[in-house]
Amino acid sequence: MSNGVLVVVSGPSGAGKGTVVRRLIEKYEGIFLSVSATTRQPRQGEIEGIHYFFVSHDKFRSMIERDELIEHAEYAGNFYGTPADPVRERTERGEHVLLEIDIQGGVQIKKKLPDTVLIFLAPPSLEELEKRLRGRGTENDEVIRNRLNIAAREYAVAKEYDYIVINDTVDEAVERIHSIIVAESCRASRISL
Ligand code: ADP
Ligand code: 5GP
Repeated sequence: MSNGVLVVVSGPSGAGKGTVVRRLIEKYEGIFLSVSATTRQPRQGEIEGIHYFFVSHDKFRSMIERDELIEHAEYAGNFYGTPADPVRERTERGEHVLLEIDIQGGVQIKKKLPDTVLIFLAPPSLEELEKRLRGRGTENDEVIRNRLNIAAREYAVAKEYDYIVINDTVDEAVERIHSIIVAESCRASRISL
């Protein structure tokens, strides 16, 4: 019996993390997505408890003080964090857990839980990234420009990740991430015979 693999998927806003991760958990059993807490306002169509736990700044602070988050980070003026209990319970049951979090969060988790697998999902190019962000139509021009600036800084940290997956097509990206999870779950250090 071995614990499930904890997998972080990071990458620039608009790279396709949400799309790829959603397809992955629909297609394969035994892989679950962790739901983060955030102080950001819900976007149209986002549902409490499914996409995020939308919380006030006070509630977020109290979660930090009570050590209820494995990691947390500020991104584009809002706070985001990963609730610890659901992640621990699932991985102890042998289920794989995906965290779709920013790169600062990925680096923090790896320090705390070194078995975590860090995957950087990159768009085929920065031009394609801008096209996808504009095509999604959920952010205004200023927010998009800010996110593109953040993307350039994120590329510098991608080298600290374990794997880089290019999201050229959703299907291929899903298969590559699934292959990584399968290989990592067979790692000798994770298995007690
Ligand atoms: P993220 O979660 O990384 O911010 P999204 O999953 O919201 O990104 O994707 C951003 C936009 O790009 C969405 O409109 C999505 O439909 C589109 N998209 C995602 N993956 C691909 C892909 N492989 N090819 C073309 N468009 C994509
Ligand atoms: P968005 O506002 O587009 O939903 O997310 C903005 C960024 O925050 C994305 O890069 C997303 O991956 C990241 N993010 C979402 N949840 C968490 C979390 O719990 N912790 C950290 N560190 N980043 C998160």
